[in-house]
Amino acid sequence: MTDRVLLAGVIGDPIAHSKSPALHGHWLKRYGIRGYYVPLHVSHDKLPRILKDLPDMGFQGVNVTIPHKEQALALANGVTDRAALIGAANTLTFTSNGIQADNTDGLGFIANIRQCVPEWRAADGPAMVLGAGGAARAVLWALIEEGAPRVILANRTRARAEALRDQLGARVELLPWTRIEDALGDVQTVVNTTSLGMVGTAPLRLDFSRVRSGTVVNDLVYAPLETEFLAAARAAGCRAVDGLGMLLHQAAPGFERWFGKRPEVDEELRRVVLSA
Ligand code: NAP
Repeated sequence: MTDRVLLAGVIGDPIAHSKSPALHGHWLKRYGIRGYYVPLHVSHDKLPRILKDLPDMGFQGVNVTIPHKEQALALANGVTDRAALIGAANTLTFTSNGIQADNTDGLGFIANIRQCVPEWRAADGPAMVLGAGGAARAVLWALIEEGAPRVILANRTRARAEALRDQLGARVELLPWTRIEDALGDVQTVVNTTSLGMVGTAPLRLDFSRVRSGTVVNDLVYAPLETEFLAAARAAGCRAVDGLGMLLHQAAPGFERWFGKRPEVDEELRRVVLSA
């Protein structure tokens, strides 16, 4: 037994909406760990100073969310290969060698699908990714890393998709945004990484009539949990996977590094986070 109280948190601007404090707070309580995980509202100009001060205040590390993910990567002393490739950090650990930056979004994405569809393997067939923003980078990295033979990428703004393909390599193929439905029958996995379908935005409406039954369809949007996109996929015989699990799984590596325990992602955690 030690007197040490372990500290971690999440840095963003805004931050009040973040579900991370409820998530980590639940794990701390569940495993009886003496620690706190707090929301930290930090503006862009103050990020360098705050990241310098937090280790001195006893923080083990922090999650980083919008709009600081790119700046946090640039401020780190060490960076994992995946964070460098994704171009953003979401998990910082304070060590004797300075700030170590990682990006666990791709790991969370894969772990979520595997938990919902245990027999799913990225290497078994082509995937389709809709969107080319920050979340898409992590999803594309993860699919390629897991051995997807081909990833078809469609984004409303084609130039953004081209930039992602140029960076992430030969297995990424571009598809015009208006041709998505034609290609649905060619893939075993479809992922919506756009913000369409989020509360307050228009839904992502697709005709799934050409999809193969059993195709895994994942929406990264988790508010609402059942989007119009997921409901249509389910009605067409697809295996629908919601986005909440990715949020929960991406948090696990940070918790383990800072608090020393690999946490479980289960139904109880889902309930806690949904009601937060
Ligand atoms: P982002 O960088 O702002 O990218 C937004 C994407 O949505 C872009 O591809 C954008 O296309 C597309 N988009 C926006 N409005 C559109 C419209 N009207 N029609 C077609 N495409 C549209 O955002 P992000 O950080 O990648 O996040 C995207 C979504 O993923 C959000 O809903 C976020 O909450 C969710 N997310 C979930 C998790 C999780 O753990 N489940 C993790 C990260 C993100 P253009 O390039 O054409 O603008």
